[in-house]
Amino acid sequence: MSDGTREIEALIDAMARLPGLGPRSARRAVLHLMARRATLMAPMAELMGHVAEAVRDCARCGNLGTGDLCAVCADPARATGEICVVEDVADLWAMERGRAFRGRYHVLGGVLSALDAVGPDELRIPLLLERVRDEGVTEVILALNATVDGQTTAHYIAEALEDRGVQVTSLAQGVPIGGELDYLDDGTIQAALRARKRV
Ligand code: ZN
Repeated sequence: MSDGTREIEALIDAMARLPGLGPRSARRAVLHLMARRATLMAPMAELMGHVAEAVRDCARCGNLGTGDLCAVCADPARATGEICVVEDVADLWAMERGRAFRGRYHVLGGVLSALDAVGPDELRIPLLLERVRDEGVTEVILALNATVDGQTTAHYIAEALEDRGVQVTSLAQGVPIGGELDYLDDGTIQAALRARKRV
């Protein structure tokens, strides 16, 4: 028998690893859940188990979905020859909310970072080069964030795609420096896509 401290501490430690939550807010969140065990904690635990089991990464683009291919990759109408490269799924969702892009995506799963020792092989860059070769891609649109690492990654990809017979463009910089796609309104995303420039 124990007072449950060890179990609860383990949960707090796990929760504190979420972005934006430190140990203090993790502790508050766990106590909040404990106070609503039946109405919030148990249903949430069940949902997490379900999502962890049912939802996976698209084998082609890295988006989330319930099958081998995500809904975008499985839709033949989206085989436009355009691939929009984004850093993560949140950015993909932001592009989809903007409703301006009708092609397919490629989720890198991060950006190159010397500081964090993230190289091209840690990202889905080799897979992108394969797709450009195999899928009749005519244009790669880089929709990477205007951070230093985002722009380094954009340049790396543009260089890797040189002489591959594919046009490489980048979203117009209506995007504020350091601003992430997820924080932009739909109109700004649409305008940045329409005004995209050759890299
Ligand atoms: Zn996909």
